Amino acid sequence: MVSLDGTLPKKTTGDLTRKALAHSHELLLALSRAAHAVQKARTAEEVYRAVGDQIKALGGDVSLFIATEKPNQLAVAYTSYELSFLRKAEQLTGLSALDYRFETPPGGIFASGIADGSTIYARDVKEYTIAMLPKGLQSLAEQIINVLDAKQGIFAPLRLEDKTLGVMVVSGSSLTENDVPVMESFAAQIAISLHNLNLTRQMQNELATRQRAEEELRRSEERYRTLFDNMMDGIYRSTHDGRFVDVNAAMVRMFGYSSREELMAVDIKKELYFLPEERGSHILDTGREEIEVYRMKRKDGSEIWVEDHGYYVHDERGNILYHAGMLRDVTTRKKEEESALLQSAALEAAANAIAITDIKGTLQWVNHAWFELTGYSKEESIGRNMSIVKSHIHDPKFYKELWGTILAGRVWRGELKNRRKDGVLYDEEQTITPVLDSRGNVTHFIAIKLDITKRKQTEAALEQARRELEQANLDLKKALEHEQHLSHTDALTGVSNRRHLFELAAHEFDVAKRYEHPLSIIVFDLDHFKNVNDTFGHALGDRMLQEVTRTVRSQLREVDLIGRYGGEEFVIILPMTAARQAWLLAERIRAGVEALRVPTDGEPAAVTLSIGIAEMLHTRQDKSAEDVIRHADEAMYAAKQAGRNRAVIFDAE
Ligand code: GH3
Ligand code: MG
Ligand code: MG
Repeated sequence: MVSLDGTLPKKTTGDLTRKALAHSHELLLALSRAAHAVQKARTAEEVYRAVGDQIKALGGDVSLFIATEKPNQLAVAYTSYELSFLRKAEQLTGLSALDYRFETPPGGIFASGIADGSTIYARDVKEYTIAMLPKGLQSLAEQIINVLDAKQGIFAPLRLEDKTLGVMVVSGSSLTENDVPVMESFAAQIAISLHNLNLTRQMQNELATRQRAEEELRRSEERYRTLFDNMMDGIYRSTHDGRFVDVNAAMVRMFGYSSREELMAVDIKKELYFLPEERGSHILDTGREEIEVYRMKRKDGSEIWVEDHGYYVHDERGNILYHAGMLRDVTTRKKEEESALLQSAALEAAANAIAITDIKGTLQWVNHAWFELTGYSKEESIGRNMSIVKSHIHDPKFYKELWGTILAGRVWRGELKNRRKDGVLYDEEQTITPVLDSRGNVTHFIAIKLDITKRKQTEAALEQARRELEQANLDLKKALEHEQHLSHTDALTGVSNRRHLFELAAHEFDVAKRYEHPLSIIVFDLDHFKNVNDTFGHALGDRMLQEVTRTVRSQLREVDLIGRYGGEEFVIILPMTAARQAWLLAERIRAGVEALRVPTDGEPAAVTLSIGIAEMLHTRQDKSAEDVIRHADEAMYAAKQAGRNRAVIFDAE
């Protein structure tokens, strides 16, 4: 049995040589088996394990250190030492044993020997290992090697061509210098396997990457084609002399051709431009995408305005390969823009203030008249809300009704008060027209405002003048009435004066005559009034006249009329009244005056009346009121003669 643990090579020296040869041979066989296992490995880890298993089976131990991408740096890739030992090492270092990386010191055995391809046989592994390691790790390595009790060993480079991939350290008590070539070739096998595995992995990675890239390219081409064909905008590629290389479906539609082939066949310069000077390239060869708007010709000869996002594609020498770009049909926009120029110039110059707002009332456009009306410049207005001119004078209901109307898509027209920038209120007549989109949704409002402050002021002034005139008329009427009243009235007693009395009497006579209504007239005179004056003085006489008329009037109806006929003689006109009723009234009057007492310094003054009554008689053909008054007067004298303080009806007999 071959062994690295020292059990085999012993006994006699003659034996020793023979046994040593046998040992080497067996070792070679064992390692060629190991090499086979290593070759079959599919991952680096499987390689390490195969190495470890074979060396362990031979009673030795093995560690593999692999060079990293950094010069003179090694990583611990594998060790066959017992796990318990590895744990201990990890405890000592505080680091993971595997993948542990360390720098080999310059001048150490790795840098000056192994890295160049030398295999080193060590009688004392400890000494060599410590020489290979940096100072910081030396005492630790010493402890480990002491624990292992490793003596001799072989440091074999993992060599590939002229490159050292790492180092294999094999230790075992029976290893001799003779084992160096075997270990060297084993290490080379390991290196080749690791290298091959690495290459395979790289190739696999590359292959996978390339497949992914191809798949991605195919998909993106598909996506591009779909986009290309479904785009609303036209996509083209053309030669510099004016032939299409490729066009999408939108291009065909846009120019009114029936197929891609048909459009591809046109001579762009001859058939898609109107005039020779419009021919050729509109897009400048600036090396970037350029945007240009120009007109072209459809198949049916009609005009199409296009926005060309175009660029030139060159070869490495800078020659133009083709033109490429995207065409957008902007005919509608172009026409709208043209009319909107025209329109906005007209709106700008309009005498009425015009404002365009969005649905929230944010001002988007105002004309010059707006500035003149409100005092807000374009800059101060646009972006702000229409409410900058709100006066807040109107009821909230008013504004609510306004918004309700326009948000419902209806036109609002009315007068309102707004506030200028300087705070001054003004009147405007406003028409707000909602702008609807194709689906009927309100998108904007157009407000047209007419300053009606002047008109309002004129209206207000007119109204004021009208009111003043009305008042003047009223005053005049009152004055006239007062005048009339004065001219009609007896100043002392307040009853109608004689002239007015006769007018009233004449009117009532005419009415009664026309309708054949009864009419009675009373004439009364104060009895012995001279005595009253003589006894109490003229002033009290006046007072007595006032009290008597007041007493008499209190007995009269609304329609009855009373006037002063002369000194202390009065007339009462009683429409719709016959003599008998008049007599009853006269009696009440007589009694009332008889009972009247006017206080004086001494005894109260009293007076009586003599009353004459005459009824207008239609059969007797009274010609005028004077006739009836005269008759009543006659009856009054009759009452005087009969002893005064009585009422007498006129008797014609
Ligand atoms: P009778 O009629 O009963 O025959 O006696 P009489 O005293 O009333 O006589 P007569 O009618 O002739 O006198 C009228 C007097 O009335 C004369 C005048 O002084 C007085 N009189 C007339 N008008 C006024 C007046 O306005 N004020 C006062 N205080 N007295 C007046
Ligand atoms: Mg008298
Ligand atoms: Mg008299």
